[in-house]
Amino acid sequence: MIHPDTEIRRVDDVVGIGVFATKRIPRGTLTWALDPLDQILAAPRLEGLGAQWEGWLDHHTYHDPSGNRVLCWDAARSMNHSCRPTCGGSDLGFEVALVDIEEGEQLTNDYGTLHLDAREGFACRCGAPGCRGLVEPDGSAWERWLPELRAALALLTEVPQPLAPIVTPAILRAGRRAVGLPATAKRRRLHAV
Ligand SMILES: [Zn+2]
Repeated sequence: MIHPDTEIRRVDDVVGIGVFATKRIPRGTLTWALDPLDQILAAPRLEGLGAQWEGWLDHHTYHDPSGNRVLCWDAARSMNHSCRPTCGGSDLGFEVALVDIEEGEQLTNDYGTLHLDAREGFACRCGAPGCRGLVEPDGSAWERWLPELRAALALLTEVPQPLAPIVTPAILRAGRRAVGLPATAKRRRLHAV
C-alpha cells in the first residue's frame, strides 16, 4: 500500500505517469508496504500465463529476493526509477523515505535494487546528478543505498507513520536487522496517524 499523501500524476510523454507527494513526507516515513492485496506471482503461475504477458509484467511488477514477481494493486506499481531515489528498501517488504520528500516531488526507487532480468535493462533519463545512464541488473545496488536506509530507518519512530497498521513489528525488526541496526528501536511503537 502506498502512502496516503500521494497521487498519480503525468510526468511526460516518454515516462508516462508517476507517484507524487501531495504533502511533505519526512525522511524515515514508510512510503510503501507490501499488503495482503498485493499479488505475489511465483514461477509456475508466471509460466502458465504465456509470453503475451511478458511485457506487461516487466512494466508493472518487480522481482522480490525469492524470484517471485510482485504486482502491487494500487499506485505503488507506478513508482518510477531514479538513480538518486527518494525511497528505498523494497526487499524488506516496505519502503522508507530516504530523504524529506516535498509536496509535489516524485516518489522513486532505484530499479537496480529490484533484481532486474537482463532484458529489463533500460537507458535512464532520470536527470538526477550522477545518473548512471543505463539501469541494468546490479548486484551492488543494495549496498549502495545501505547508509541511506540505515539513516532513514533510525527515524522510524520519530515521524508520523500512516502505514503503521500495515507493517507488523516483526517485519520492522527484520528490516532493521537487515540494514545492520538493532532490531528494537528506542521507542517501540510507531506513531500511527
Ligand atoms: Zn538515471
